[in-house]
Amino acid sequence: MSAPGLHPLWRPYTQMKSAAPPLEAVATRGSRIVLADGCELIDGIASWWTAVHGYNHPHIAAAVADQLGRMPHVMFGGLTHAPAERLAQRLTALLPGALNHVFFTDSGSVAVEVALKMAVQLWLNRGETGRTRVLAFRGGYHGDTMGAMSACDPEEGMHRRFGAYLPTQVFCDLPRDAERSAALDATLARHRHELAAVIVEPLVQGAGGMLTHPPEVLATVARLARRHGLPLIADEIFTGFARTGTLFACEQAEIVPDILCLSKALTGGTLALAATVATTEIFSAFWSDDPAAALMHGPTFMANPLACAAANASLDLFETEPRRAQAAAIAARLEAGLRPLARLAGVRDVRVLGAIGAVQFAQAPDLAALKSRLVARGVWVRPFGDILYLTPALTVPDDDLDRLIAAVAAETEAIAAALA
Ligand SMILES: *Cc1c(COP(=O)(O)O)cnc(C)c1O
Repeated sequence: MSAPGLHPLWRPYTQMKSAAPPLEAVATRGSRIVLADGCELIDGIASWWTAVHGYNHPHIAAAVADQLGRMPHVMFGGLTHAPAERLAQRLTALLPGALNHVFFTDSGSVAVEVALKMAVQLWLNRGETGRTRVLAFRGGYHGDTMGAMSACDPEEGMHRRFGAYLPTQVFCDLPRDAERSAALDATLARHRHELAAVIVEPLVQGAGGMLTHPPEVLATVARLARRHGLPLIADEIFTGFARTGTLFACEQAEIVPDILCLSKALTGGTLALAATVATTEIFSAFWSDDPAAALMHGPTFMANPLACAAANASLDLFETEPRRAQAAAIAARLEAGLRPLARLAGVRDVRVLGAIGAVQFAQAPDLAALKSRLVARGVWVRPFGDILYLTPALTVPDDDLDRLIAAVAAETEAIAAALA
């Protein structure tokens, strides 16, 4: 391996000394990534679940090019602009209930930080001190910044390593049965005086391992949060924009959270943008003549016009192209292709929800070897932990999807054969 001094680029979650060098991408189109050596990979994960319309959609490209010529960026303190105004209006119209007030940031983690700060400051503005913790769920993932990290699964590696640095939150299992519902109820009762909010990933805990739960479980979370007078934060950063089949996952449980976070697919996978959306009830707690009661946050690149133009164009595509039907068709194909793998040795579970399909192994496989075999099969699929999963673009052509499913099936069969 080359010396440390030869690596100007420090890569994400990567042991720089021993990890295989990254592949160089030179172009994208549709559901394909083109590499410097001319190889084309079928993308099975849509660049961390962002590129819902596939890559290089001409409608988004045109909107961004147009905005680039007019005004790529302008500060958001004291100024506003049409792309942000329009996007806020459209998001609030699409979201359920009174989720009417949008705060833009530039990454999912920061959208979660803002949601947590909103919840904490909400109580301070109401004159109630001491509510500085959140209740979060085991298996959850909410981002890599400090507050977001503190709400991630408490056993997971990053949390264990940084434990002493992080605020300590209150953790529960998702209320998947009567016993765990009672435990959640009791924990909320015991801690409610110090809790500011409950935070949950609706229907699927993504980075925690594609752990799905039925809408009734989410409805129970919402009901118990309400019973104890706590705002519910729905982290829809992964699930938002039709990934689970409905535009937002919360719709399937017919709940309206008090605060909702969006990012990943918000700009159709083109530019960094995130939104924290609050109900009028939450917003009202900040509505005052007291400057100190204002929401104390404001990133430099807040509501970047290019990113807002991309997001508006992405919303156009949800109106004009059949993304929900495409998600349902992908779900059916994933179900047919992946479900039979559940019978194989070494497979613990197969989960399909909307355009998400995951195979969970009984034991974590050799990830480095598995990743390079997948590339050799011409697919870009990134297993993590004990999970091999597909979250393709909603526009993925059937034959590309079939090749992705075939690659996952072949690797799962190879793992089963090695156990026999
Ligand atoms: C990806 C993700 C985040 C963090 O978003 P970043 O843009 O990576 O900071 C937070 N919550 C969920 C559910 C996510 O999937």
